[in-house]
Amino acid sequence: MDQSTGFMPLVCESASESSEDDQAGPCLAPGAACSCVEGDLSHDDMRKLAAKFEHECLTKDGLFPKYDRREYKDDKLAKQDSVDCSRAIKVYVDMRPQELKRIDDENEQFGLVFVLKLWWRDPRLKNFKAQLCIEKEAPNTAPFLEEIDVVVRELHEDGTLVFEDFQKLGSRQTRKKHEYVSISPPKWENHFFPKHTFINQVDAEAQGGIHIAERQLLWCNEAGGVVEYKAKYDRVFEETLELKEFPMDRQLCRVKLTAESPVSDFQFIAIDTCRRLSKVTDMWETSKEEDHPECIVYVRHVDRILPSSNMIQRSLVNMVLHVRRKPDFFYHSVWLMVALINGISLCSFAIRPSHHSGRLSYLSTCFLAVLAYRYIINDSLPKKSYTTYADQYIISACAFQAVLCLWSSILMFCWRVSEDQDEHLDPDTRGRIVAADVAALGLATFAFILLNCQLLSWWRIARFHSWQEVYERTTNKEPYFPVDECKSCGGTFLSQQHCHADPNKRCQNSDCKQQNIHTHYLTPKNVPEDMRSALLPSLKDRLKRHGPADEVEEYLAAHA
Ligand SMILES: [Zn+2]
Ligand SMILES: [Zn+2]
Ligand SMILES: [Zn+2]
Repeated sequence: MDQSTGFMPLVCESASESSEDDQAGPCLAPGAACSCVEGDLSHDDMRKLAAKFEHECLTKDGLFPKYDRREYKDDKLAKQDSVDCSRAIKVYVDMRPQELKRIDDENEQFGLVFVLKLWWRDPRLKNFKAQLCIEKEAPNTAPFLEEIDVVVRELHEDGTLVFEDFQKLGSRQTRKKHEYVSISPPKWENHFFPKHTFINQVDAEAQGGIHIAERQLLWCNEAGGVVEYKAKYDRVFEETLELKEFPMDRQLCRVKLTAESPVSDFQFIAIDTCRRLSKVTDMWETSKEEDHPECIVYVRHVDRILPSSNMIQRSLVNMVLHVRRKPDFFYHSVWLMVALINGISLCSFAIRPSHHSGRLSYLSTCFLAVLAYRYIINDSLPKKSYTTYADQYIISACAFQAVLCLWSSILMFCWRVSEDQDEHLDPDTRGRIVAADVAALGLATFAFILLNCQLLSWWRIARFHSWQEVYERTTNKEPYFPVDECKSCGGTFLSQQHCHADPNKRCQNSDCKQQNIHTHYLTPKNVPEDMRSALLPSLKDRLKRHGPADEVEEYLAAHA
């Protein structure tokens, strides 16, 4: 009769101490092997990696100028070429999440409304033919609108237009914005567009889910035309959820944007890394931790060396939302109910020990009621090979019922072997059995109250995994700042994007080449700002250090 182990939810007992620990401290999660806690990589190591990357792989204006492709055969360099990316078009990208509409646990999807904005300068977008609409005044009649064919030579940001009439080319005219009605946009299909797709979008074929998508020519001159593209999306994305910690789990909701042309054609540059999410579905909340952003938008760093001559790299942008489930729903509608049923099952002790069948049928009813909650939870979650915390709680509640049933059976058995032929018990034996029953009631009640209170306090104060552990989950492997640590030679390297999640990757040290590598997935909180801006420079970071590189960046500094 060991009720305490039967009912014990598989939690660590030091729950009450956790409030003193800081977030990097030991975590309370049951069974979690914390192989890497923040701090086993020194900031100096990371700073060196980031500085090396910045020095070797980025120009001052944030462009990735070239990468090498080296093919090895039998450990000898067989083929090498380098890909020049210095003529790539810089595409500035901004993604602003607006509303996280829902997170669908069962299908592992989430719905998000967000705005995508792109800006770029197309060097060929100039001297194009267009229709200019002007107000014509003629004698003896009211003014009317006339469309004339023109060649646009310059369009200024304030709307001033320099053009030549198509009929008499060679004579330039200038009109201010109020001196003409409108100018038709260039034929977009003739010009550059940074083609992109969302990798993890559900039903990638569907073109739906875009509210608006428009292109606007901001200005054009001899250097080309600067275009702003704006699209508002309302779409569903896939994201594998790890639910071991359900209902107190944290998840990353990611939107993965990929360019459809290699980095030698165009490269994304993020405007700013930190973004806010204005509205979240009421079952979830955004991370409210100090110095951990709710949402980050970053361009994944590019690999300097690729291992195969037919690999190409594309520019990739990740938007990562950090969200945490509010356990209130589970707390009200599962924990409370199951605790009540367990409490009610303690009432079985009020049934006389001689009335065995009554006690057993009472307990089995309670057992079925607890079991029903297991189905309620299972219905809302995807099938996973592991048990969630909620499962563990329900299982321990079932075990509590089973122990009570077992105790009743033992009692029944003792009663049966002690009674005489007339089903009478001598008062001594009867007294002993009743005393044992009362003791069992006391023990069960004590275990019930203690463990539910502990669970309650644990939920209220527990801090679960650090975000780094969420980043490092096998289902996530969020490559914001991945660092390889070789367990054989002790070296640390910036992980390569094309193989950061490959379990068989080799050490980047050419003298070592062992497969004994642990990849740390660092979070924005682990990475000091100077390293962040060295490895993943957003326009904002770069403006702080160098000032704008050209008039496009000047414009974005003021408007984006
Ligand atoms: Zn942990
Ligand atoms: Zn090594
Ligand atoms: Zn790690």
